[in-house]
Amino acid sequence: MTKPRILTGDTPTGRLHLGHWVGSLENRVRLQDEYDCYFLIANMHAFTTRAEKPDDIRRDTLEIVKDWIAVGIDPERSTLVLQTEIPAIAELTWYFAMLLPFNRVMRNPTLKAEIEAKDLGDHYSFGFPLYAVGQCADILAFRAELVPVGEDQEAHIEMCREVARRFNHVYCGVDSTTKDEDYVAKGGVFPVPKAKLGRIARLVGTDGKQKMSKSLNNAIFLSDETNEILKKCKKVVTGRQSATDPGVVEGNALFQYASAFMKDTARLAELEQLYKAGQIGDGAVKEEVGRAIDAFLAPIRDKRKSLDGKAGDERVVEILRDHIARANRVAEETLRMAKAAMKLDFGPRQLQ
Ligand code: ATP
Ligand code: MG
Repeated sequence: MTKPRILTGDTPTGRLHLGHWVGSLENRVRLQDEYDCYFLIANMHAFTTRAEKPDDIRRDTLEIVKDWIAVGIDPERSTLVLQTEIPAIAELTWYFAMLLPFNRVMRNPTLKAEIEAKDLGDHYSFGFPLYAVGQCADILAFRAELVPVGEDQEAHIEMCREVARRFNHVYCGVDSTTKDEDYVAKGGVFPVPKAKLGRIARLVGTDGKQKMSKSLNNAIFLSDETNEILKKCKKVVTGRQSATDPGVVEGNALFQYASAFMKDTARLAELEQLYKAGQIGDGAVKEEVGRAIDAFLAPIRDKRKSLDGKAGDERVVEILRDHIARANRVAEETLRMAKAAMKLDFGPRQLQ
């Protein structure tokens, strides 16, 4: 029996943070045995907003792989996919771009939110919105069935599902009344993948408002040291005026972190009570939550240290190189199937 596949990943626009953990990484680590897992570094997509910063993209590519290994992604069990080395993804992006109306892509709410949050105005690159189509290709190149992601990615996965259905109708003759789970059995090339949201689908940033994000300067990183964590926690915006005001727990970033990372649930319930009653100040809660986050991150930091420095960088590059052939084997097979369905089965090629 072959296992169903997972594809998900991260863009090298910075190091990984707590939002990545609760939104996606935790599920990735947990599902490694049950699924055939492919974890992708979207280094080509990083160029959509940072084309003039190749050094940063390379550095962040290595940093993310270090974060992955530190949290428990195991290169022995899962395949790491370096997007720029998998040509089938770029080719499928073109074919899928033809199956999606331009306005459908531009209406994608995640793209709109990113344009606003990252202040891209009307000067973003032509390639920027194309990344949403490219993400359909990332997933479908591996014919993945499950995509562990945070809430912000749901709109992208929905578009990917539409492309998969449309490709199967247009080129494989699968009936449009087919149920999503039956597309492959009915002769389609692509399964219609499902998003799997994390324990917390949207972790708020330390600004107390926007989603925690690598590029918004509101993140607690998985590699942050104790003092940075405590400093960042101190700055979390709760909107509360004074320590004796009855506090609001719902929608409060501090308590979202507390419920995500405090192991002692009795103490958490007590803190919530005290806060609501105006019997504890923000400072004391921040200190306690900061300590809980630090306790969670300490073993991750320790494991990451084994990949520090130049030797660590070399080890990571070696792992990435090792996995290129593994990833291309699947992606090339998919491309062959897709091109055959599109009457494009002209020439064989060997990339593995
Ligand atoms: P960028 O600022 O460059 O967009 P990001 O922090 O949004 O970076 P991505 O690489 O876009 O990170 O996202 C990687 C994965 O992590 C996605 O599945 C995304 O949904 C998830 N994720 C990112 N931030 C959060 C968050 N704050 N809460 C829950 N999930 C998140
Ligand atoms: Mg993002």
